[in-house]
Amino acid sequence: YEFNEKDIQELGQIGNGEFGTVSKVLHRPSGVMMAMKRVGPTVGNQGERKKVLKELCFVLECHDYEYVVKFYGVKFNNEPADCLICMEIMDASLEKFYKFVYDKKHQELPESFLGKVCVATLNALNYLKEKHRIIHRDVKPSNILINRQGDIKMCDFGISGKLVDSIAASRDAGCQLYMAPERIDPMKASRSYDVRSDVWSLGITLYEISTGKFPYPEWKSIFHQLSLVVEREAPKLESTRLSEDYKNFVNTCLTKDEQNRPKYNALLSHPLIVAHTNSNSKFEVAQYVEPYIIEMNS
Ligand code: ADP
Ligand code: MG
Repeated sequence: YEFNEKDIQELGQIGNGEFGTVSKVLHRPSGVMMAMKRVGPTVGNQGERKKVLKELCFVLECHDYEYVVKFYGVKFNNEPADCLICMEIMDASLEKFYKFVYDKKHQELPESFLGKVCVATLNALNYLKEKHRIIHRDVKPSNILINRQGDIKMCDFGISGKLVDSIAASRDAGCQLYMAPERIDPMKASRSYDVRSDVWSLGITLYEISTGKFPYPEWKSIFHQLSLVVEREAPKLESTRLSEDYKNFVNTCLTKDEQNRPKYNALLSHPLIVAHTNSNSKFEVAQYVEPYIIEMNS
C-alpha cells in the first residue's frame, strides 16, 4: 500500500482538519484523482510506525464496500515527520453540504435524503465492526462524504482510532463535541470503547443535519460544553416536518444511558432503516444532491 510521493501531483487544498490538511491530487501513473490527507507531524519511532502501517493496511483492506470511502495508499515521511493517506475523492462532506443548504439556500434537508444517510452510516459502522472489528470513534458530519453520483460514504474510521492515537501527540479537546457522555465521564471513560459510543455520536450528527444546528448551545469553553453532555438530559429531536419513525430512530441513538442504547443489530431492523433500504437509493440521492454540489463548486 505504500506509494511514491514523486508520483503525486498536488492540485489544491480541499479542507483543513484537526490533524492536518486534505488536498486534491493526481496519481500520475494511474491517472486517478484522489484526496490526500496529510497527518502530522507524527511522533514515534520507526518500529512504531511500521506497526501502525501494518494495522492501517489491515484497516484498509475493507474498502470495497459501497458505504465506505476507498483507500489507495499511505506514506510515512521522516523529514518532515508526517504521514500521507490517499483515498477516494468525494464532492462534499455532509458538514459542508448541510451548512450550504440551511445557511445559504435557507432550505431543509428532506427526510428522503436524511433516511438514506441513516442507512449508509449505520451499514458502514456495522460493516466495519462485524467484518473488520473496527470501531469508528470519530463519527461526525465532516466524516460522512457524498458525491454527485449519489454515494454516501464514511471516512476516517480506524484512522482516528488506530493511526492518530498512536502517532499524534494528543488530540485537541475542541474536536470532541460528538463524544458520548460515558466517554467524557472520568469514572467511565477508562473502560474500553463500545460501539454504542459511536451510536451516540451518530445521533448527534443526525440531529445536527436534520435541524441545521448542533444540539448543544455554544460555549465559552470546551470544558463547559462537555460537562453539559454529561449533566443534561440527552437532546431530543422534535420536529413537525419529520416522521415519527425518523425522530424515533435519532432519539433512540441519543439514549443517554449507554446500557439502554441500542447496538447496530437492533437499529438495522428499525422501521426507518427498512423503509429507506431500496435499490433506487443512489439514483434518488444523486438527483437531489447534484444541483447543490454544482452550485457549491461554482
Ligand atoms: P475534519 O474531518 O475534522 O473536518 P479532515 O482533515 O478529516 O478534518 O478533513 C478536512 C476536510 O476535508 C473535511 O471536512 C472534508 O470536507 C474534506 N475531505 C476529507 N476527506 C475527503 C475526501 N476523501 N474527499 C473529499 N473531501 C474530503
Ligand atoms: Mg475527517
